[in-house]
Amino acid sequence: MKILVVEDEKDLNRLICKELESDGYLVDCCFDGVSAYDYLTLEDYDGAILDVMLPGMDGFEVLRRARKDGISIPVLFLSAKGEIKDIVNGLDIGADDYMVKPFHFQELLARVRVMVRKKADVHENIYRCGDLVMDCNLHQVWRGEREIELSPKEYAVLLYLIRNQNIVLTRDQIEANIWDSEQGGYSNVIDVYIRYLRKKIDHDEDFKMIQTVRGVGYILKSQ
Ligand code: CA
Repeated sequence: MKILVVEDEKDLNRLICKELESDGYLVDCCFDGVSAYDYLTLEDYDGAILDVMLPGMDGFEVLRRARKDGISIPVLFLSAKGEIKDIVNGLDIGADDYMVKPFHFQELLARVRVMVRKKADVHENIYRCGDLVMDCNLHQVWRGEREIELSPKEYAVLLYLIRNQNIVLTRDQIEANIWDSEQGGYSNVIDVYIRYLRKKIDHDEDFKMIQTVRGVGYILKSQ
Protein backbone atom coordinates (compact mmCIF):
# COMPACT_ATOMS: atom_id res chain seq x y z
CA MET A 1 0.00 0.00 0.00
CA LYS A 2 1.29 3.39 -0.98
CA ILE A 3 1.32 6.46 1.25
CA LEU A 4 2.37 10.00 0.37
CA VAL A 5 4.12 11.97 3.12
CA VAL A 6 4.20 15.76 2.74
CA GLU A 7 6.24 17.53 5.42
CA ASP A 8 8.76 20.32 4.96
CA GLU A 9 10.74 19.53 8.12
CA LYS A 10 13.18 17.10 6.56
CA ASP A 11 14.07 15.15 9.71
CA LEU A 12 10.44 14.66 10.66
CA ASN A 13 9.59 13.69 7.08
CA ARG A 14 12.34 11.06 7.09
CA LEU A 15 11.22 9.73 10.47
CA ILE A 16 7.58 9.37 9.40
CA CYS A 17 8.65 7.59 6.20
CA LYS A 18 10.86 5.23 8.18
CA GLU A 19 8.06 4.32 10.59
CA LEU A 20 5.64 3.69 7.73
CA GLU A 21 8.17 1.60 5.80
CA SER A 22 8.89 -0.56 8.79
CA ASP A 23 5.14 -1.19 8.96
CA GLY A 24 5.23 -2.48 5.38
CA TYR A 25 4.00 0.58 3.47
CA LEU A 26 5.52 1.87 0.28
CA VAL A 27 6.18 5.56 0.79
CA ASP A 28 6.71 8.60 -1.42
CA CYS A 29 7.71 11.87 0.19
CA CYS A 30 7.85 15.51 -0.77
CA PHE A 31 8.55 18.78 1.01
CA ASP A 32 6.37 21.49 -0.50
CA GLY A 33 2.77 22.11 -1.49
CA VAL A 34 3.22 22.35 -5.25
CA SER A 35 4.96 18.96 -5.42
CA ALA A 36 2.30 17.51 -3.10
CA TYR A 37 -0.43 18.55 -5.50
CA ASP A 38 1.50 17.03 -8.42
CA TYR A 39 2.01 13.73 -6.58
CA LEU A 40 -1.67 13.53 -5.60
CA THR A 41 -2.81 14.08 -9.17
CA LEU A 42 -0.33 11.68 -10.75
CA GLU A 43 -0.42 8.68 -8.44
CA ASP A 44 -3.25 6.70 -6.86
CA TYR A 45 -2.19 6.54 -3.21
CA ASP A 46 -3.97 4.59 -0.50
CA GLY A 47 -3.59 7.63 1.72
CA ALA A 48 -1.63 10.85 2.29
CA ILE A 49 -0.22 12.56 5.37
CA LEU A 50 -0.27 16.26 4.71
CA ASP A 51 1.34 19.07 6.70
CA VAL A 52 -0.54 22.41 6.65
CA MET A 53 2.21 25.02 6.79
CA LEU A 54 4.23 24.27 3.68
CA PRO A 55 6.32 26.35 1.28
CA GLY A 56 4.76 27.04 -2.12
CA MET A 57 1.15 26.20 -1.37
CA ASP A 58 -0.27 25.41 2.06
CA GLY A 59 -1.79 22.02 2.82
CA PHE A 60 -5.35 23.35 2.94
CA GLU A 61 -4.98 24.76 -0.57
CA VAL A 62 -3.40 21.51 -1.83
CA LEU A 63 -6.36 19.48 -0.59
CA ARG A 64 -8.93 22.05 -1.76
CA ARG A 65 -7.55 21.81 -5.30
CA ALA A 66 -7.20 18.03 -5.20
CA ARG A 67 -10.81 17.55 -4.05
CA LYS A 68 -11.99 20.02 -6.72
CA ASP A 69 -10.23 17.81 -9.27
CA GLY A 70 -12.19 14.82 -7.98
CA ILE A 71 -9.23 13.18 -6.23
CA SER A 72 -10.62 11.09 -3.40
CA ILE A 73 -7.38 9.79 -1.83
CA PRO A 74 -7.86 9.73 1.97
CA VAL A 75 -5.91 12.55 3.61
CA LEU A 76 -4.76 13.03 7.19
CA PHE A 77 -3.60 16.52 8.17
CA LEU A 78 -0.64 16.54 10.52
CA SER A 79 -0.13 20.06 11.72
CA ALA A 80 1.10 22.30 14.51
CA LYS A 81 -2.00 24.41 13.84
CA GLY A 82 -4.18 22.97 16.57
CA GLU A 83 -6.99 25.47 17.05
CA ILE A 84 -10.53 24.25 16.66
CA LYS A 85 -11.09 26.52 13.66
CA ASP A 86 -8.07 24.95 11.89
CA ILE A 87 -9.26 21.41 12.55
CA VAL A 88 -12.82 22.21 11.45
CA ASN A 89 -11.49 23.95 8.36
CA GLY A 90 -9.27 20.98 7.47
CA LEU A 91 -12.09 18.48 7.84
CA ASP A 92 -14.53 20.70 5.95
CA ILE A 93 -12.14 20.98 3.01
CA GLY A 94 -12.29 17.20 2.74
CA ALA A 95 -9.67 15.70 5.04
CA ASP A 96 -10.48 12.32 6.59
CA ASP A 97 -8.57 13.03 9.77
CA TYR A 98 -6.58 15.75 11.55
CA MET A 99 -3.75 15.25 14.02
CA VAL A 100 -2.07 18.01 15.98
CA LYS A 101 1.70 18.12 16.54
CA PRO A 102 3.41 17.03 18.70
CA PHE A 103 2.10 13.52 18.21
CA HIS A 104 2.89 9.90 19.09
CA PHE A 105 3.98 7.63 16.26
CA GLN A 106 1.85 4.77 17.54
CA GLU A 107 -1.22 6.95 17.23
CA LEU A 108 -0.21 8.20 13.79
CA LEU A 109 0.26 4.62 12.56
CA ALA A 110 -3.11 3.58 14.00
CA ARG A 111 -4.80 6.49 12.26
CA VAL A 112 -3.03 5.64 9.01
CA ARG A 113 -4.46 2.12 9.28
CA VAL A 114 -7.94 3.60 9.64
CA MET A 115 -7.32 5.87 6.66
CA VAL A 116 -6.03 3.08 4.44
CA ARG A 117 -8.94 0.88 5.46
CA LYS A 118 -11.33 3.48 4.06
CA LYS A 119 -9.64 3.27 0.71
CA ALA A 120 -9.49 -0.50 0.71
CA ASP A 121 -13.11 -0.62 1.84
CA VAL A 122 -12.30 -3.61 4.00
CA HIS A 123 -13.93 -2.40 7.16
CA GLU A 124 -12.57 -4.91 9.60
CA ASN A 125 -9.12 -4.76 7.98
CA ILE A 126 -8.72 -8.51 8.22
CA TYR A 127 -8.04 -10.59 5.12
CA ARG A 128 -8.80 -14.29 4.85
CA CYS A 129 -7.77 -16.84 2.27
CA GLY A 130 -8.57 -20.43 3.19
CA ASP A 131 -7.08 -20.93 6.65
CA LEU A 132 -4.65 -18.04 6.17
CA VAL A 133 -5.57 -14.87 8.09
CA MET A 134 -3.87 -11.46 7.92
CA ASP A 135 -4.97 -9.10 10.65
CA CYS A 136 -3.74 -5.65 9.63
CA ASN A 137 -4.96 -4.05 12.85
CA LEU A 138 -2.68 -6.23 14.94
CA HIS A 139 -0.11 -6.79 12.17
CA GLN A 140 -0.44 -10.56 12.68
CA VAL A 141 -0.50 -13.45 10.25
CA TRP A 142 -1.92 -16.89 11.03
CA ARG A 143 -2.16 -20.13 9.14
CA GLY A 144 -4.72 -22.12 11.10
CA GLU A 145 -3.54 -22.12 14.70
CA ARG A 146 0.02 -21.25 13.81
CA GLU A 147 1.19 -17.63 14.04
CA ILE A 148 3.69 -16.64 11.36
CA GLU A 149 6.39 -14.01 11.80
CA LEU A 150 7.10 -12.04 8.65
CA SER A 151 9.63 -9.34 7.74
CA PRO A 152 8.13 -6.05 6.52
CA LYS A 153 8.80 -6.93 2.86
CA GLU A 154 7.39 -10.45 3.21
CA TYR A 155 4.33 -8.92 4.87
CA ALA A 156 3.92 -6.44 2.00
CA VAL A 157 4.19 -9.17 -0.66
CA LEU A 158 1.73 -11.42 1.17
CA LEU A 159 -0.71 -8.53 1.66
CA TYR A 160 -0.66 -7.86 -2.07
CA LEU A 161 -1.22 -11.56 -2.80
CA ILE A 162 -4.08 -11.91 -0.33
CA ARG A 163 -5.82 -8.75 -1.57
CA ASN A 164 -5.72 -10.33 -5.02
CA GLN A 165 -6.25 -13.94 -3.97
CA ASN A 166 -7.17 -16.48 -6.63
CA ILE A 167 -5.91 -14.12 -9.33
CA VAL A 168 -2.69 -14.82 -11.24
CA LEU A 169 -0.21 -12.00 -10.63
CA THR A 170 2.78 -11.34 -12.82
CA ARG A 171 6.15 -10.53 -11.31
CA ASP A 172 5.84 -7.05 -12.82
CA GLN A 173 2.54 -6.46 -11.02
CA ILE A 174 3.96 -7.59 -7.70
CA GLU A 175 7.07 -5.51 -8.30
CA ALA A 176 5.09 -2.38 -9.18
CA ASN A 177 3.00 -2.67 -6.04
CA ILE A 178 5.71 -3.51 -3.57
CA TRP A 179 8.91 -1.87 -4.69
CA ASP A 180 9.66 1.72 -5.68
CA SER A 181 9.26 1.88 -9.42
CA GLU A 182 12.46 3.94 -9.66
CA GLN A 183 14.56 1.11 -8.29
CA GLY A 184 13.30 -1.38 -10.87
CA GLY A 185 14.61 -4.77 -11.99
CA TYR A 186 13.50 -6.70 -8.95
CA SER A 187 11.91 -9.77 -10.52
CA ASN A 188 14.57 -11.99 -9.06
CA VAL A 189 14.03 -10.48 -5.62
CA ILE A 190 10.32 -11.27 -5.90
CA ASP A 191 11.19 -14.93 -6.48
CA VAL A 192 13.34 -14.81 -3.38
CA TYR A 193 10.56 -13.35 -1.23
CA ILE A 194 8.08 -15.88 -2.61
CA ARG A 195 10.50 -18.60 -1.55
CA TYR A 196 10.74 -17.14 1.98
CA LEU A 197 6.95 -16.90 2.18
CA ARG A 198 6.49 -20.46 1.01
CA LYS A 199 8.80 -21.68 3.72
CA LYS A 200 6.76 -19.88 6.34
CA ILE A 201 3.24 -20.31 4.98
CA ASP A 202 3.23 -23.65 3.16
CA HIS A 203 5.98 -25.65 4.83
CA ASP A 204 4.55 -28.81 6.44
CA GLU A 205 1.07 -28.02 5.11
CA ASP A 206 -0.80 -30.44 2.85
CA PHE A 207 -2.26 -27.67 0.75
CA LYS A 208 0.29 -25.31 -0.81
CA MET A 209 -1.39 -21.91 -1.14
CA ILE A 210 1.33 -20.04 -3.00
CA GLN A 211 1.45 -21.57 -6.45
CA THR A 212 3.62 -20.88 -9.46
CA VAL A 213 1.94 -20.28 -12.79
CA ARG A 214 4.63 -21.20 -15.27
CA GLY A 215 5.82 -18.37 -17.47
CA VAL A 216 3.41 -15.92 -15.86
CA GLY A 217 3.88 -15.44 -12.14
CA TYR A 218 2.22 -16.46 -8.91
CA ILE A 219 -1.19 -17.03 -7.40
CA LEU A 220 -2.39 -17.29 -3.81
CA LYS A 221 -5.12 -19.92 -3.79
CA SER A 222 -7.78 -20.35 -1.15
CA GLN A 223 -8.38 -24.01 -2.04
CA1 CA B 1 5.46 22.70 8.10
